[in-house]
Amino acid sequence: MEKSQRISYTNLEKNFQEVERALTKQEAIEESNRCLYCYDAPCIKACPTGIDIPTFIKKIASGNLLGSAKTIMSSNPVGASCARVCPTEELCEGACVLNHSTKPIMIGNLQRYATDWAIANDQTLFEPGASNGKKVAVVGGGPAGLSAARELARLGYEVTIFEASEKAGGLNTYGIVSFRLPQSISFWEVEQVKKLNVTIKTNTRVGKDISAAELLENFDSIVLAAGMSSVPQLGIEGEELSGVYDAIEFVKSTKSGRLTEDFIGKRVVVVGAGNTAIDGATCSIRLGAENVKILYRRTEEEMTAYDFEYEFAKQDGVEFRWLTAPKRIIGDENGRVTGIECSKMQLGEPDVDGRRKPKVVEGSEFILPVDAIIKAIGQNRHLELIEELGLHHNGGVVTVNPENYQTSNPKIFACGDIVFGKGKGDAMVVTAAQQGKEAAYSIHRQLTLAGTA
Ligand SMILES: Cc1cc2nc3c(=O)[nH]c(=O)nc-3n(C[C@H](O)[C@H](O)[C@H](O)COP(=O)(O)OP(=O)(O)OC[C@H]3O[C@@H](n4cnc5c(N)ncnc54)[C@H](O)[C@@H]3O)c2cc1C
Ligand code: SF4
Repeated sequence: MEKSQRISYTNLEKNFQEVERALTKQEAIEESNRCLYCYDAPCIKACPTGIDIPTFIKKIASGNLLGSAKTIMSSNPVGASCARVCPTEELCEGACVLNHSTKPIMIGNLQRYATDWAIANDQTLFEPGASNGKKVAVVGGGPAGLSAARELARLGYEVTIFEASEKAGGLNTYGIVSFRLPQSISFWEVEQVKKLNVTIKTNTRVGKDISAAELLENFDSIVLAAGMSSVPQLGIEGEELSGVYDAIEFVKSTKSGRLTEDFIGKRVVVVGAGNTAIDGATCSIRLGAENVKILYRRTEEEMTAYDFEYEFAKQDGVEFRWLTAPKRIIGDENGRVTGIECSKMQLGEPDVDGRRKPKVVEGSEFILPVDAIIKAIGQNRHLELIEELGLHHNGGVVTVNPENYQTSNPKIFACGDIVFGKGKGDAMVVTAAQQGKEAAYSIHRQLTLAGTA
């Protein structure tokens, strides 16, 4: 497949600039005026954070951009990031009544227009609540943790976020590729939370730099929002070779400018076909790789990446090899990867999840010559941390009461990817944000309202 015209080989930095163009003022006003401002608007119900979409759009149409940004961000503390990364066609835009006649309102782009204005004009959108004397620790400063912290601070809690990384923002800062979500957007959202007097202790891993016991002793309540962990091992020979990457770490290194390997002209194989695999593949192309193949042991039908991501990868020139599984990674005498042996697969009977189980086709092995391999087959769980906190879990998915996000320890509430498991919806920024809000309100009910009853 031909590679996309949008890739530059002379200025790699340009390849990592945001792909989607912002709306102009004229376009934003025209698009806002197309909105029917439906009574009982279905888009509001389809947004997991329940943003009052017709109201924020109306405010754009009347030139009240501060009001519009406040409407968005009051429902969604990471609304500027969500404007860029939400699968809108499956959420708000998918529910727009105009789908039946013309085309849906560009809700994500309008959300970006209003929040970009707030960012460019250095607006502080919210104030902290009057202190109620209670302290809450938040473990993890990603979308779920920031959202919980923001709501708790507005309710008057003294909040401390403990964040293992150098910067807060979670996967918004380090995981979702820069050409879809620049770090500056995530940093602005972190700053909005800090402005509410929330303390963010970065480079502080709970379980290593501070113990779970200390948190339990020193805080009235804990929000556990540590997300998921690294990519699991493939469990095949040769994984230790140089040139074999964990997709999450790989994308993180492109976002923080720390990638040392030169990808120009290289042949890259990505193993897996979810969000992370697409991000690993499109990043490789943008780093100048000559050929990038995604290997997936099932078919196009079963892949978990969204349609828009699949289209985006194809436009970038990424090739897809369906029903193909890695068997062995091959290296040279310097310990450097040179190839990957693969087997062809066929789909058998459905397993307990209803997905057809792939089986190896005997004698179908073949070797692909490669210079780099990116592993993107899901994410491990924070088992050690969960066990140090003594919480019930199912294979590292923390068990919570779905009504209030309370864990098996009544003092600990968990939200975001750490409670995400099979059959519990999609792992998305917008759901993490909503769960963070709900965990915050549950804590408030438990600590304050119950005391006054
Ligand atoms: C490559 C990739 C692409 C994605 N693309 C999209 C997309 O396009 N759209 C979308 O909606 N969603 C996307 N997602 C999913 C989305 O990023 C997550 O669902 C969301 O970030 C979950 O938020 P969270 O706060 O639960 O976890 P995270 O964002 O992972 O944040 C958890 C934070 O906890 C910190 N932490 C971990 N352990 C500890 C500890 N022991 N002590 C202190 N801090 C700790 C971590 O450093 C991290 O900052 C993508 C995910 C990946 C991996
Ligand atoms: S947060 Fe996401 S789902 Fe909600 S209105 Fe914005 S773009 Fe749509």
